[in-house]
Amino acid sequence: MTENKANVIDGKALAAKIRAEAAVEAGRILTERGRRPKLCVIIAGDNQASKVYVRNKQKACVDCGIESETVELPGTVTREELFEIIDQKNGDVTVDGILVQLPLPGGIDEKEIIARISPEKDVDCFHPVNVGRVYTGDPVFLPCTPAGIIELLKFAGVEIKGANCVVVGRSNIVGKPVGALLLAENGTVTIAHSKTKDLKKVTKEADILVAAIGKAKFFTKDYIKPGAAVIDVGMDRDEEGKLCGDVDFDDVISVCGAITPVPGGVGPMTVAMLMKNTIKAAKGK
Ligand code: NAP
Repeated sequence: MTENKANVIDGKALAAKIRAEAAVEAGRILTERGRRPKLCVIIAGDNQASKVYVRNKQKACVDCGIESETVELPGTVTREELFEIIDQKNGDVTVDGILVQLPLPGGIDEKEIIARISPEKDVDCFHPVNVGRVYTGDPVFLPCTPAGIIELLKFAGVEIKGANCVVVGRSNIVGKPVGALLLAENGTVTIAHSKTKDLKKVTKEADILVAAIGKAKFFTKDYIKPGAAVIDVGMDRDEEGKLCGDVDFDDVISVCGAITPVPGGVGPMTVAMLMKNTIKAAKGK
């Protein structure tokens, strides 16, 4: 049996620390203003996974002393109705952060809806103004999952500066912004995707590998440089329906230097960073 020396990065512990810090800040805001910071989550339709994500966010708000309001809408909601609700929340001074849970029901242009949120309340950091600020190095908010990944690497003592960073996946939510944040931390960044030639050759060069493709246990040890830090963003289901990541944890742990588990790695950090952004939005006023 291979001796396992890899550092398993505890995202739950780090997320708890960040949430505790957010709770202190929320308490301070309550004392100063006589009201708690408030996050408004808008959810439309019947997507079960989305409902679970929203419940997790509500629970995190309660833990942090952040008020949470959830606007639940039917799958038949129109773009005009969504605009109206967002406009109302944009104008409500007691609402600090607004988040529209994606995906929206078919036929609705998500980009148009996100762009309706006031950039100052866009705690997901999906609004084009906030995305632009991240890329120009002048961010107001940081995107939650990518920022959580940077925090996890720092927490694990992984040096990003000068490291060869390979991100697999180029979505607007994960792959592209992780690439931008790693670059801002002075990593040398490659973003790979489904059209990348000889993916194994590319990932084998990675000191830091971020796996964000949505394919259960895709990355085996053949993809990993010995000693690499492996961040698994995937939230997938294995053949038994159990939650797992994009990385074959049991296989990769024998060669990597550090690895995030699924569950308990990136997932809790995403919610913790959302709490941090909500505090930031409240403080910004
Ligand atoms: P997505 O929008 O579906 O994007 C997947 C990306 O992976 C695409 O860029 C695609 O390439 C690439 N890809 C797919 N198969 C590939 C392959 N065989 N080789 C190389 N690249 C491949 O997914 P996403 O929203 O970024 O999410 C990715 C995963 O992270 C999912 O499991 C999701 O559930 C999870 N996630 C977790 C969190 C969290 O908080 N833990 C947050 C967000 C997402 P092309 O662009 O060429 O199609």
